[in-house]
Amino acid sequence: MTLLQVDAIDVHYGDFQALYALSLSLEEGETLAVIGANGAGKSTLMKAVAGLMIPTNGSVTFEGSDITKLPAHKRVPLGIALTPEGRRIFPSLTVEENLLVGGYARRKGPWSLEKVYEAFPLVADRKDRLGFNLSGGEQQAVAIGRALMSNPRVIMLDEVSLGLAPVVVQDIYAALPRIAAQGTTVLLVEQDVNHALGIADRVQCLLEGRTVLEGTATSLTRDQIASAYFGI
Ligand code: ATP
Repeated sequence: MTLLQVDAIDVHYGDFQALYALSLSLEEGETLAVIGANGAGKSTLMKAVAGLMIPTNGSVTFEGSDITKLPAHKRVPLGIALTPEGRRIFPSLTVEENLLVGGYARRKGPWSLEKVYEAFPLVADRKDRLGFNLSGGEQQAVAIGRALMSNPRVIMLDEVSLGLAPVVVQDIYAALPRIAAQGTTVLLVEQDVNHALGIADRVQCLLEGRTVLEGTATSLTRDQIASAYFGI
C-alpha cells in the first residue's frame, strides 16, 4: 500500500524556490533514502511532509487523505514523525524520561521502551543518564528512540550522521534495519551515499530542488549516483 504520496510540489522560501515539481512515493514498510548534496532540498522535502513548509503547488497525500495544507501538529497524530537535524532532547531529563515523553499520547503499535532498548543497546546502557551528559551521537540515538515511542507510521530521519563520530554513526546505522523490521516505514535524508545505500530499499537523488535519479539501491551503479549527485 502507498503510505505517502508527494505529487509535483513546489516549495518556496519567500521568492526563492527550493523544490520544483518534486514527487515521491513511499510504500508501507519500505526504507527510502533521499540523497543529495548540500542545499539540494532534502530537508525542505521533509518539512513539506511534516507540515513545517506548505507547498505553493502540488499535493501531499497520506494514507489516501490530502494533507497538503494540514498543520504540523495535526500530522503527528496521523503517525508522521520527524527527527530533525540537530536532535533536541530534554537536557535535564534522563534518557528513559526522554523516551517516555515521546510515548505520551502514543498510537497503538510495536514500539515500547523495551523495543527501543532492544533496537538501540547504546540507549539502554545509558537509560539513567541525564540528557546534558550525552554525546552528540547518544543524543541522536535517544531522539530517534523518542520518535519511535509514539509508534509512527513513518519516521523521517534527517541527516542522522551529520557531525557525529564514525563509531557512533555505525551504531546508529546498525539499528536502522531493526526499525524497518518492526514494520515501521523509514524516510531517510542523507548526504553520505554509502550509508544510504547500506540500508535503503530505494534511493532518490535530488539536485537543486529536482529529482535527478531514482531506483532500487541494488539497481543503481556508483557512477550513476555520482553523476546525479554532483550534476555531472
Ligand atoms: P543540507 O544538507 O545542507 O541541509 P538540503 O538538501 O537539506 O541541504 P535544504 O535545507 O532543503 O537542502 O535547502 C534547499 C535550498 O533552500 C537551499 O538553497 C537553501 O539555501 C534554501 N533554504 C533552506 N532553508 C531556507 C530558509 N529558511 N530561508 C531561505 N532559504 C532556505
